[in-house]
Amino acid sequence: MDQPADRTDSGEPEQQTLFEWADTAPAQTVDGTFRHSPQARRMLDVREVYAEPAALDSPRGRQIMARLPGVRVTEVASHWQIPSLHGNDGNIGRWARTKTETLVLGVKHKLVTRPNGRSADWIAPGASNGCAMACAYCYVPRRKGYANPITLFTNIEAIVAHVRRHVHARGPKTEPNQCDPKAWVYDIGENGDCSVDALVSDNTADLVAAFRHLPTAKASFATKFVNPDLLALDPRGRTRVRFSVMPADDARLLDIRTTPVPERIAAAADFLDAGYEVHFNLSPVVLRPGWERDWADLLTHLDDVLPTRVKDQAAAEIIMLTHNQALHEVNLGWHPRAEDLLWQPEIQETKRSQNGALNVRYALETKQRSLVRLRHLLSAHAPWLRIRYAF
Ligand code: SF4
Repeated sequence: MDQPADRTDSGEPEQQTLFEWADTAPAQTVDGTFRHSPQARRMLDVREVYAEPAALDSPRGRQIMARLPGVRVTEVASHWQIPSLHGNDGNIGRWARTKTETLVLGVKHKLVTRPNGRSADWIAPGASNGCAMACAYCYVPRRKGYANPITLFTNIEAIVAHVRRHVHARGPKTEPNQCDPKAWVYDIGENGDCSVDALVSDNTADLVAAFRHLPTAKASFATKFVNPDLLALDPRGRTRVRFSVMPADDARLLDIRTTPVPERIAAAADFLDAGYEVHFNLSPVVLRPGWERDWADLLTHLDDVLPTRVKDQAAAEIIMLTHNQALHEVNLGWHPRAEDLLWQPEIQETKRSQNGALNVRYALETKQRSLVRLRHLLSAHAPWLRIRYAF
């Protein structure tokens, strides 16, 4: 159990073997979609589905299962309670395999849009929970255990109808704010990565299509995965993609199973040309010896490779690392080297969150000093990159 099954001989987790540079040439498939390419299958190669009966009976559930012929299905009473899947202890040894090979289908019963005000005006009820990628700092799947693979919610019509009603009830945005000057921004991917979800379901496509016809609002999601199939969704400016970026050395250690950062940056112009607004998340910022030099290099790279049309509309969020004591302990079981970077008690402080978890953040003074420094780096190396907010 000390060593995950998916480690390479070098002792590194499998990210390095998932998306080597040579692997990332544009995928060619018979039907022209990325989702059927070898690269896509290395991210998600579903061998087992756990599903609520109502999810299996739904049109979206049937569509997903039709794309997974021969895959074993286990019916479950609730997507929240799958003892053989959730929790961390039994999954540490097969961490990435669980994320690659397992899919959960459920029905989202509580449809609530929550106010946010930082990255987005509103957090929409997400169409998924969990992720096939395995970033070492990820808080997303904590309620099901950190090994949580993707749960797709199949009642997408209800989710879209709820969001539409919420947008219509707001009316036009009359005051610009840091989220957007004109549109109400709805985060549609709080608990997962919409780009990966789109490998197995049309939930992301349906949300992008819905916002296409909502002129007072805009969808927004952060992603660490370049899925070229999203280029065909025709968002007409009503969906903002936020590519998360961090220095390549940090990403190699922390952003397990994701698309390499240079690839994410290289995709920005294609997404803009396909009708998306393209922003960047500078996140998480991890403090370590040499962090300023490496962030300066990353910002210089952005400045060097991004075309003017991307720069002209870009904005960024800066998010300093937040970690968590429980996640720290889990990571020590499958990827302890990540904790050398993430767990630095001498410059971090703990705070108990509302749900009782012990969260770990950089001490206030350290954080503020680092944010000032990062703003200076932005002014020097990427002055066109407007900061929407820093946290
Ligand atoms: S891509 Fe996002 S949701 Fe997926 S593991 Fe990384 S941080 Fe979590």
